[in-house]
Amino acid sequence: MLRLRVLLVSALVAGVASGCGPAGHDADGRVSVAASFYPLAWVVSQIAPGADLTDLTHPGMEPHDVELTFAQTVDLARADLVVYERGFQPAVDQGVDNDAEGTTLDVGPVAGLQDFVSDPGQVDPHFWQDPLKLSAVAGAVARALDRIDPARATSYDARAAALQRRLAALDRDYRTGLAHCARHTVVTSHDAFGYLSRYGISVAAITGLAPGAEPAPADLARLQQLIRDDGITTVFSETLASPAAADALAHDMDVRSEVLDPIEGLSDATAGQTYLTLMRRNLAALEEANGCTT
Ligand SMILES: [Zn+2]
Repeated sequence: MLRLRVLLVSALVAGVASGCGPAGHDADGRVSVAASFYPLAWVVSQIAPGADLTDLTHPGMEPHDVELTFAQTVDLARADLVVYERGFQPAVDQGVDNDAEGTTLDVGPVAGLQDFVSDPGQVDPHFWQDPLKLSAVAGAVARALDRIDPARATSYDARAAALQRRLAALDRDYRTGLAHCARHTVVTSHDAFGYLSRYGISVAAITGLAPGAEPAPADLARLQQLIRDDGITTVFSETLASPAAADALAHDMDVRSEVLDPIEGLSDATAGQTYLTLMRRNLAALEEANGCTT
């Protein structure tokens, strides 16, 4: 069945490729880009607003366990550029290995990934919580587009530079906003915020990597002790998974329950927001919870 699917995709791509104009571009001359989840798609949209862009993780979906539809596999196969993070979404890795005909850009080595603090040896994929790491990715996306579509290189480079200035400003706001805080530990429902360590934040996650996993009683007891010891005021849940575990812990400990968005994707609740507005919303929630003063 898998083999049949691969053959079908290959046949479809061959058919499309032979029928269109400039090699590698859409018939209308637009560059086609497949980005594997929201922060990567957002970067591409800022640098190449005219591109034919597909986000392989639909809004509201949890990107960790995304499955590609046949149509998405065709989009990935046909794309002039695939922007993805190897090791984060196995279905996308497989699509890149089996089907991609264009340029592929694995953003992990560009961003420079670190291990989970709670789980050394396990790579933490959530690098976009650090705006400077996303800025490095923006530079690599622009360079890839320059090579694929040199006629628009000046535009890609100028837009990437503007985006990198906005990300640098966001980084400054995080450094300033989190510089003077009463507390530095944050309790969250999934371990997606380790890259905030650069701003002095340390994360205690209720459930490790998998959103929706049931917390073990021993882990819950450890978190309850931490909340008491550190005077933690807030337990954070996230937007794409059920807040049940975080809400229950907050209720048991008589502290507040708030949302911290891992920004892995948009949902109905965050439609109309962007990476930048969600990062600033997270910053305000962190400042409030940790008693930060500027
Ligand atoms: Zn995650």
